[in-house]
Amino acid sequence: MTEVLPGILVVLSGPMGVGKTTVANRLIEKGGYRRSISVTTRPPRKGEADGVDYRFISVEEFERLRDANELIEHAQIVSNWYGTPKQPLREALKARKAYLLVIDVDGGRQVRGKGYNAELIFLAPPSKEELVERLKSRGTEDMKQQTLRLERADMEMEKASEIYNDIVVNKDLDTCVEEVHALVLDARRKLKEKELAGDTLYPGLKL
Ligand code: 5GP
Repeated sequence: MTEVLPGILVVLSGPMGVGKTTVANRLIEKGGYRRSISVTTRPPRKGEADGVDYRFISVEEFERLRDANELIEHAQIVSNWYGTPKQPLREALKARKAYLLVIDVDGGRQVRGKGYNAELIFLAPPSKEELVERLKSRGTEDMKQQTLRLERADMEMEKASEIYNDIVVNKDLDTCVEEVHALVLDARRKLKEKELAGDTLYPGLKL
């Protein structure tokens, strides 16, 4: 029989090009996970679809959501706004899913500050050189954007150890996915103990 574990909020962060989206997709294939779809004011890249990769919205709509307190967290990254809508998180936790937020370190800090019992995992590249190569081979950003993103990666890695529960190095994809999955299961089992003890699992979320 499969264990019925409580839902949990899982934050996955890491520098651009480290493989966060791939890891998130592999976890979803395992079942029991759901992914948060962020809102963003950044224009869609080639191949991205509205409502699948992001909800692409105007700055005015973003400000409306933020001011109505409908975002769990939000951040400005390289001149664009990003945010996590609140309602789908509530639904996922009620359905006892592991709810994946693929967000930046600023967002991770905001989630940490809310005291949700979240599992926060930072994905690190095997080396800086490898990250530069991955970013170049994606070819989605021009040189200026690439430089900005690499500067940001340095800053994020410095801050990660203070905010995140665990740091997982993405050297081999399969190993990385299994490590992340094991951490999530472990966190959910601890939550189950709290649940059995009658604790409030998601203070402030009003499920
Ligand atoms: P990209 O523009 O490459 O899709 O994403 C840029 C950065 O924004 C990535 O580090 C991604 O994890 C982060 N990001 C995406 N959605 C959100 C969000 O809702 N909140 C925060 N804080 N960061 C996000």
